[in-house]
Amino acid sequence: MDFVVEYKDCCGCGACHEVCPKSAITMKIDEYGYVYASIDNELCVDCGKCKSVCPAIVNNNDKEFEKKAYAGTSLDESTKKSTSGGIFALFAKKVLSEGGVVYGTEMNESFDVQVIGIESEEELPKLQGSKYVQSNMLSAFKKIKEALKEKKVLFCGTPCQVSALKNYIGKESENLILVDIVCHGVPNSQMFKDEIALFQKKYKDNLSGFAFRDKDFGQNCVGNLKFKNKDGKRALYSYSSPYYTAFLKCDIFRESCYSCAYSNTNRPGDITICDYWGVEKQEGEFHMACQEKGMVGISGIIINTKKGEEFFEKSKEKLLCKESTVEKIQKENGNLVCPSTRGRNYDTVRAIYKESGWDGVSRFYNKKYRKQRITRQLYNACPKFVKKLARKVLGK
Ligand SMILES: Cc1cc2nc3c(=O)[nH]c(=O)nc-3n(C[C@H](O)[C@H](O)[C@H](O)COP(=O)(O)OP(=O)(O)OC[C@H]3O[C@@H](n4cnc5c(N)ncnc54)[C@H](O)[C@@H]3O)c2cc1C
Repeated sequence: MDFVVEYKDCCGCGACHEVCPKSAITMKIDEYGYVYASIDNELCVDCGKCKSVCPAIVNNNDKEFEKKAYAGTSLDESTKKSTSGGIFALFAKKVLSEGGVVYGTEMNESFDVQVIGIESEEELPKLQGSKYVQSNMLSAFKKIKEALKEKKVLFCGTPCQVSALKNYIGKESENLILVDIVCHGVPNSQMFKDEIALFQKKYKDNLSGFAFRDKDFGQNCVGNLKFKNKDGKRALYSYSSPYYTAFLKCDIFRESCYSCAYSNTNRPGDITICDYWGVEKQEGEFHMACQEKGMVGISGIIINTKKGEEFFEKSKEKLLCKESTVEKIQKENGNLVCPSTRGRNYDTVRAIYKESGWDGVSRFYNKKYRKQRITRQLYNACPKFVKKLARKVLGK
C-alpha cells in the first residue's frame, strides 16, 4: 500500500479516488476515524492522475486579480438558518432562480454529513448552517461534472474541497461558481457519531437532530439538540458537548488541517465567505446600522476572481454591505492568516480514544472542564439583570 500524498497532507477529499482510471485508490479510515486515500500498487499504472487533482499538490489559484472585500449581511428572511451573515443562501437563491443546481453540505437524519445537490429553494435549509464535521463529497464529483454540461452549478465548501473540485473539473467552466468558507479545521464523522451515540443513550434514543450554533438561542449557545418527542429543541451551552469543546480547542482536527495550505488569503474559490469577527472595531458604523436593523451575524466576503466579482454584483440585491479590506477581515480571523495550531489536549485525546473510545474522551473533557461547564450553567440560569451585572463586574 502507498499514499497519493503523505498521510499528514491528505485532506481526505477523495478527488484521487474519483479520477483513478484503474480503481486503484481506496478511501480508508484510520484508527481515529479520519478518512485518507490509499493506493493499491498492484493495480496502479502510475498515470499520475491522482496527483494532478490532489489539493495538497496542485494549488492553482488566481493570483492576478486584485481582491475586493466587504462586510455584509443578508436582508432575506432565510438568513436566520445560516451560521453567519446568510451570504451563502443569497448566492444559492441566485443560482437556483436561474435553473442551476447548488452543492453544499447537509447533515441527514442518520447524522451523516455529506455533500449533496439541491435544485429548489425548499431544500436550501438542508445546506444552511455550519456542520463542524468533515463532509463526505465522494458522490458529488461526477454529478457536478455532468451537471456543468447544461446548467450553472454553485459549490460551497471548505477550501480543500473547493480546490479538489477545481482540479477534478480541470478546464475553466463558465457554469461553475466556487465559494470557499474560511475553515478552522475538521474533525471526523466517526467521532461525531460516537458523541451522538452517547447523547442517544442519555436521551433514550429520542434525539432526531444536532445543530451547531443556533441563532434562536443567542450568542452563548454553541448548538442545540433536536428531539423526536414533543420536547422540541434544547440548547447546548459551552462545555456541555465534549465533541464541540474538542473542536473549539483544536484538539481533534485531521492532521492536514494543522498545515493547511489554504489558511491564508490564497483562496481557491471565486468568492470566500467567513465570520467577520471584530467587525464592530473595523467597520463600526456598519455594525451599528446592522444592529439597529436587528440583523444577527455579519460575514466577511472576499472576491477572488473576475467571475466571482460578476456573480457577486448580480446576487447582492438583498445584501446589506459595506466595502472593507482583506486586512481588516484578517485581523481577528486567524484561519485567514495561518492554520490552526494543535490544541493542548491533542496527544491526550488521541491516546484516550485509542484506548477507551469516545466514552473515555467524553469523560476526560467532562472532568477537565467541569468548573467552566457548571459556571456556564449557573450563568444561564440567572435572570437577565444578574447576567448584565456579572458581565459588568467581570468587564465582559
Ligand atoms: C468546519 C468549519 C469550520 C469553520 N471555521 C471557520 C473559521 O475558523 N472562521 C470563519 O470565519 N468561519 C468559519 N467557518 C464558516 C462560517 O461558520 C460560515 O459557515 C460561513 O461564514 C458562511 O456563512 P453563511 O451564513 O453565509 O452560510 P451558512 O448557511 O452558515 O453555510 C454556508 C455553507 O457552509 C457549508 N458547510 C457547512 N458545513 C460544512 C462542512 N462540514 N464542510 C464543508 N462545507 C460545509 C454549507 O454547505 C453551506 O454551503 C467554518 C465552517 C465550517 C463548516
